[in-house]
Amino acid sequence: MFENLNEKLERSFQLLKGQGRITEINIAETLKEVRRALLDADVNFKIAKSFTEKVKEKALGQDVLSAVKPGEMMVKIVHDELAELMGGQSVDINLSGNPTVILIAGLQGSGKTTFSGKLSNLIKNKRGKHPLLVAGDVYRPAAIDQLKVLGEQINVPVYTEEGNKEPVKIAQAAIKQAKANGNDVVIIDTAGRLAVDEEMMKEISAVKKAVSPHEILFVVDSMTGQDAVNTAKEFNDRLDFDGVVLTKLDGDTRGGAALSIRSVVNKPIKYVGTGEKMEALDVFHPSRMADRILG
Ligand code: GDP
Repeated sequence: MFENLNEKLERSFQLLKGQGRITEINIAETLKEVRRALLDADVNFKIAKSFTEKVKEKALGQDVLSAVKPGEMMVKIVHDELAELMGGQSVDINLSGNPTVILIAGLQGSGKTTFSGKLSNLIKNKRGKHPLLVAGDVYRPAAIDQLKVLGEQINVPVYTEEGNKEPVKIAQAAIKQAKANGNDVVIIDTAGRLAVDEEMMKEISAVKKAVSPHEILFVVDSMTGQDAVNTAKEFNDRLDFDGVVLTKLDGDTRGGAALSIRSVVNKPIKYVGTGEKMEALDVFHPSRMADRILG
């Protein structure tokens, strides 16, 4: 059995019993445990370091040692600080348009198409919306078929133009059709590559310019660790997206990417994907993610 962070902190505090107040010296071991937990959860090294500095300042000002369970109190300080850094509160997507246009961006394999399906399913069932899915990945015929299959499964219409290789035209035509058919949300799935490349960025920037989305969501695989942070930065520099979707959190990742991405791009994480099924989508809760990171 691995000790969780709480147990580790409790143990490191046993050494301090009877020493009265917290000092920089006697809290060093405890902070090391906190930093280790963050690194284990795949939080970027620099971020873990500056985070523990902040926690130190908070702990020094408090009477942690006289608490019945100082470990628990430290965990609370760390937990609250983590949740705060990840935004504190959940942030909703903007559904105010008529139709609302949502652009989905990310690398190939990150889970864009699956998320597009999940999001339309969610807003249809929970928000009473009538979404239209748009197959904007014009390079992979399989991606178009995949979206069609998902659409059938969740009973959401899918706009496709087989043979048309111009995502801008497809997106514009889809919005026109949505207006005609009374679809109040248009979710545009776009092409991704295995790595960030200029052509992909130009293409998605052109779609952004043409349709002025209400919401641009960047989808990223939480299992990709540090790469996730770099990719998020590159997409944000080019697209200035509105929110992040972390997928594959049902895997064994501890979710440190959430903290790193938030710290680097300063955009809210809005949803987390927790499986391949259409129902496996949750609104992001900073507090829950903090629990997960701490293990
Ligand atoms: P895209 O290339 O970005 O459109 O990625 P896809 O939506 O095709 O997803 C790539 C693979 O990841 C597929 O096999 C999906 O079933 C899977 N996938 C997507 N989201 C999740 C998730 O939250 N959890 C798990 N376990 N698998 C996911």
